[in-house]
Formats: sequence, C-alpha cells, structure tokens
Amino acid sequence: MLKHLFAELIQCAGSSAIYSYIALVVVGVVTTLFYMRNRLRPSLGGTEAINCSANAANVVSVNYHFTRQCNYSCKFCFHTAKTSHLVPIEEACRGMKLLKEAGMRKINFSGGEPFLIRRGKQVGQMVRYAKETLQLESVTIVTNGSLVTEEWFEQYGQWLDIMAISCDSFDEGTNELIGRTAANAAARQVEVAYRVQELCGRFGVKFKLNTVVNTHNVNEDMTEHIARLQPARWKVFQCLLIDGENAGGQDLRDARALVITDDQFAAFLARHKALSPIAESNSVMRNSYVIVDEYFRFLNNVNGSKEPSMSILDKGVQGAWGKTVFDQAGFVERSGEYEWTRLAEKNSTGTSTSTSTLARIPDTNVVLRAVKELSD
Ligand code: SF4
Repeated sequence: MLKHLFAELIQCAGSSAIYSYIALVVVGVVTTLFYMRNRLRPSLGGTEAINCSANAANVVSVNYHFTRQCNYSCKFCFHTAKTSHLVPIEEACRGMKLLKEAGMRKINFSGGEPFLIRRGKQVGQMVRYAKETLQLESVTIVTNGSLVTEEWFEQYGQWLDIMAISCDSFDEGTNELIGRTAANAAARQVEVAYRVQELCGRFGVKFKLNTVVNTHNVNEDMTEHIARLQPARWKVFQCLLIDGENAGGQDLRDARALVITDDQFAAFLARHKALSPIAESNSVMRNSYVIVDEYFRFLNNVNGSKEPSMSILDKGVQGAWGKTVFDQAGFVERSGEYEWTRLAEKNSTGTSTSTSTLARIPDTNVVLRAVKELSD
C-alpha cells in the first residue's frame, strides 16, 4: 500500500499531488487517534465522569443546623443535642461567604431551635448578613416557633424570606405525646403556629408549615387548620429513623415506635390531597438536602447515619465536600427549588400578599367545600 502511494507520488511529482497525500496522511492519523480514544472511553471517561460529579459540591440550597440545642423534646428529632458547640458568628459568616462563592443561592437556618441562642440574636444577625451582605436569593428559618417574638420581626424581619414552623398536630394532646412542646411553654403548639403565621403576614415574610407524619398523627385530618393557616408551602415528612440520632439504643431519641409504613404515609397524603402538600418519603429525604452542621461540616447520610466531612472553615467548600452524596433527582422530586423569596409588597389594605404562592392552596372555604363534597 505505502509502496503504491510512493510510486504514485513520484509519478505525479506535482506540488498539488504532494499536498493531497500529506492531507491524506493527516486524515489517516487523526482517524486512528479518534478510533483509539473511543475504544478507551469506557474505561477512562466512565469513572472520570462519576468522580467529577461526586466531587463537585452542589450547594445551591444549604441547610445550616448551627445549633443542636432545643427547648422541645420531639421523640423523632433528626438533629439531637449531641453537642452544645456553636461556631462564633464571625466564623459562621466566613463559612457562609465560602458557600456563596461556591454557588449557594439559598440558606436555611435550622437546629435544634435557632431562637434559643442569644434569644434569637444569633440567627437574626446571620439572616441579616446572608441577605444584606451576601445578597442571597432566599434566606429562611425552620423553628418550632415557641420563642419567636414580634420584637424579633421588627428588628430582623425585613431580611427574612420564609419562616417555617413545625407543627405535627392540631390536637395538643397529640403534640404532647410526640414531644412537640416544652414543659414551661408559654403557649401550646397550635397557638404558636397561628401566632407566627400572623406575624409573618404582617412583616411580609412567607409562612411555611412542616409536619412529620408518625404513628400518633397518621390518622388525623388537618384540612381545616391547614386551609385556615394558608401556608405558602406545607411540607409533610414521613418519620425517618437515623442511626446516631433517633434510632434508640445509645441515641438520644428513640423513634422506632413512631415509624409508619409507606402505605400509611400515602393514605395521609391522599386525605389531604386538596391542600397539595409537598410530600417527603424516607427515600426522598435521605440525601436530597445539603446539610451543614454546628462545626460547619457537611453531613452525609449514605449509610443510614449522618457522617460528617472535614470542616468547610478549614478545607473550603470543595475540599470538605469529599464523598458527600447529593441526590439531585430527590431534590427536584421534592420541589427543592421553588419560589423562595419573600411576599410581595403590601397592598392598599396593608395586607401582604403573593398570589403566585398562596394561590397554590385555595381559599379556606373552597377547600372545605371540596373536602365535604368528597366525603358526601
Ligand atoms: S423542635 Fe423537636 S424536632 Fe425540632 S430540634 Fe427541637 S426536639 Fe428536634
């Protein structure tokens, strides 16, 4: 073949023919290299692609559980008071800045109970820093609500987008069975939920409600109260066992008697279908949250327990991410990215409103009528 090519080359002896053969040789070499690369792709590109996605921190939406201390004693608590550690606020702000530089657009402050630390000042100052300095799209808090005050809203409410209250039942006896109360609480949980909802509306903050479905409330019909409270989002979680937190034995909590089946969870959801709850089954909950703990470490829930990474404060976001697993599909399935900014400006009647989110849950009377028709 080569001999033949050379013979032809000499015969032609024209420069145009030489260029043609050079071009042919180049094409041949390129084709061979391309073929070899494709043959090698499964063994190289496959693992490279997996490692790459596993190593890239996905920190769009972060849950910062900055304290484990709490004044309640819920039996299924997923984040128990194993330590009393608290990162100084300057360090917490530095950590948040690192997360923002790595792509964070939303931060949720959680606990423990966020308002227990410095009577809400700690969380208030972090909320302000996240919104005013870091200019995050969304700054939110999850709280049991018992320590939330009007004064706090006056001081920090303008920088908060959403406040979520945990309320598992509208029967106080059930809340007490669950432990969703404090011995010396000034108000019971149902009253707390209504009070915080009113404060949120007054200060232009979206109100959210979280409910953990367990053996004590699984048969409850919450329609009337949810329809009245009109949360922008009602998240409904299936009680989840996490080793090291609530699985009994050495754990601070034992939620084994509160666990429900998938069918029971489905029945609860079906009963409240008219209210469009955002459902989180055990499988969806497990890894679809980016959790940062009180030491500013990622918590990785791969083996049924939460394993901490190195601290973001020491290693940076990418360095700490390591083997952290993030379930992007689960994040999407539970509508992890939603309309997460505060309510629209107050209207002429002085009432804050946001049609796009509140419209998700129809007017109280419409819901109650629909439920009545279903049961007739
Ligand atoms: S309110 Fe209940 S679930 Fe939340 S941190 Fe406190 S004890 Fe845990």
